[in-house]
Amino acid sequence: MPSKQRKIAMMGYRSVGKSSLIIQFVEGQFVDSYDPTIENTFTKYIRLNSTEYEVKLVDTAGQDEYSIFPLQYSMDFHGYVLVYSITSSKSFQIVQIIYDKLLDMVGKIHVPIVLVGNKTDLHLERKISTEEGKRLAEKWKAAFVETSAKRNESVTDMFHAILSEIERSDGHIPDK
Ligand code: GDP
Ligand code: MG
Repeated sequence: MPSKQRKIAMMGYRSVGKSSLIIQFVEGQFVDSYDPTIENTFTKYIRLNSTEYEVKLVDTAGQDEYSIFPLQYSMDFHGYVLVYSITSSKSFQIVQIIYDKLLDMVGKIHVPIVLVGNKTDLHLERKISTEEGKRLAEKWKAAFVETSAKRNESVTDMFHAILSEIERSDGHIPDK
């Protein structure tokens, strides 16, 4: 049976762990210093609920409040993972800005999104509570997962969550 292809963009402020999450998921290791400017696409084949998926994960160099939403990310993607770090209020602010720009660009009400609060291992430095993250995801009608790329906690769950969100919207690329 041919596998379903899924193309997913990882977005969020710099240094929140976008690349670390992808590398943990695809290669099963934590890389301490990965070049923050690299924009790479990683491919992984996985089986979930008796479906084979070819998952293409597009790592971005990161966005800030001044970034113009890249046009190429508004097309051709099945879903989006929006990552902040639980240790950074700024990164939590930035995911909300990215979300607004994303919805404007994609121009559709429902876009499959998973909101991810990464770096849960740094609990002493936590600035954003689990409740705050959950509330934001509810507002978006998105899935929510807290992860640690470093300890490999809930990393697989998070990628399964985005595949499920895409499945719920039938795997169609959102209309323009
Ligand atoms: P990106 O810019 O969003 O791609 O972030 P990176 O994946 O390059 O990670 C930025 C920094 O945060 C690096 O020093 C990583 O080692 C570190 N980092 C990423 N994820 C975690 C995590 O879950 N826990 C901890 N403690 N550090 C992390
Ligand atoms: Mg990176």
